[in-house]
Amino acid sequence: MLFEELSLSKSIQRAVFEEGYLNPTPIQEQSIPIILSGRDLVGCAQTGTGKTAAFAIPIIHQLHRIVGSSKKAKQIRALVVTPTRELAVQIGQSFDTYAKYTNLTQLTIFGGVSQNPQVDTLKNGIDVLIATPGRLLDLHKQGFVNLDHLHTLVLDEADQMLDMGFVNDVKKIVKLTPKNRQTLFFSATMPIAIRELAELFLTDPATVTV
Ligand code: AMP
Repeated sequence: MLFEELSLSKSIQRAVFEEGYLNPTPIQEQSIPIILSGRDLVGCAQTGTGKTAAFAIPIIHQLHRIVGSSKKAKQIRALVVTPTRELAVQIGQSFDTYAKYTNLTQLTIFGGVSQNPQVDTLKNGIDVLIATPGRLLDLHKQGFVNLDHLHTLVLDEADQMLDMGFVNDVKKIVKLTPKNRQTLFFSATMPIAIRELAELFLTDPATVTV
């Protein structure tokens, strides 16, 4: 299959083409149409499979259509929760790459650094927030993160979040988001505890395993 066959907006196709990608990877080929249809998704995929683009590209496509070239104040429409700073930074870079011909903006937040620059950007408004759990809850508690307009929630590396003891934080985060959100849940492994979590957060999900 070619990327062109996924009916993505021209601005995204151009960015993907410039990255040198011709064909979607299996996780992308299977997940992108499901995500574009609005359905919840459980993706069982390791890092290195092209998982980030599998959710970033359809999210950018959807938001580009919703937000377009609107000059209205930006709202957080997509939130990606991921366990580590390194993963958060990589995901943020991917969003920047695939969204470079759109007006969409992202912010990546994580702990262990000053919150001030993160807060300044949040005050200016962004479309996509990529976050580690602790800093997200911290900035939400201080009133700097509004998730009322969220369209899509991504829980990335769910098994690693469980291993790192983030389950309660993740549950708290999900409660802060609208009930009618789209939820995308990615995990490298699917032990019973992870399947139970997915059941808790997702509504009638499609499952993709690569
Ligand atoms: P990820 O699994 O998201 O960490 O991605 C692994 C690597 O694959 C990243 O360096 C991406 O730039 C690259 N990649 C993602 N999608 C494609 C694709 N369709 N074709 C070629 N490389 C890709």
